[in-house]
Amino acid sequence: MNIDLGALKREKKSQLDLDFLLNLDTINYYGDEILLPNPFSVKGKLYIMNDKVFLTSDINTVMEVNCSRCLKPFTYQFSSKVNAELVNEELYEEEEDEDPGDIILYHNNIIDLAEIIKDNIFMNIPIQTLCDRDCKGICAKCGIDLNEEQCRCNLDKNEEEKVIDPRLAKLKELL
Ligand SMILES: [Zn+2]
Ligand SMILES: [Zn+2]
Repeated sequence: MNIDLGALKREKKSQLDLDFLLNLDTINYYGDEILLPNPFSVKGKLYIMNDKVFLTSDINTVMEVNCSRCLKPFTYQFSSKVNAELVNEELYEEEEDEDPGDIILYHNNIIDLAEIIKDNIFMNIPIQTLCDRDCKGICAKCGIDLNEEQCRCNLDKNEEEKVIDPRLAKLKELL
């Protein structure tokens, strides 16, 4: 999925509409293999303005992930955006006050779209995915899914606190 900028310029095209599906199958995320059975939909635009090249894209897919709290698999709606200036690596000079996040380098006048999209997906994969904002997770002691049932572990802890509390109350009386 390469775009030849030289050809675009020769054809005097200033805009290229992007609308395609990108299949990745899996992504290796710091040692964790994330399965990506569904393709990523990429919709956007590549445009040339005053000899500068810009890329905007919306990237969307649904992926199967495991909840970070209760570990149950669920379907996660992934969406991210690319909004960057594409700069020829050979001409690029780093300016200190520039936000490097908005610049993507290419070389030989060829833009490797798949690579850019892949990088963007990688950067936007959520570190923590929750099946529900209020997911209660699993009990660290007994491993029970706290969304489904309540275990005794926390109750016991509360009882311990109740035992301690009267003593503390007595202490306070002495002070
Ligand atoms: Zn959960
Ligand atoms: Zn428990």
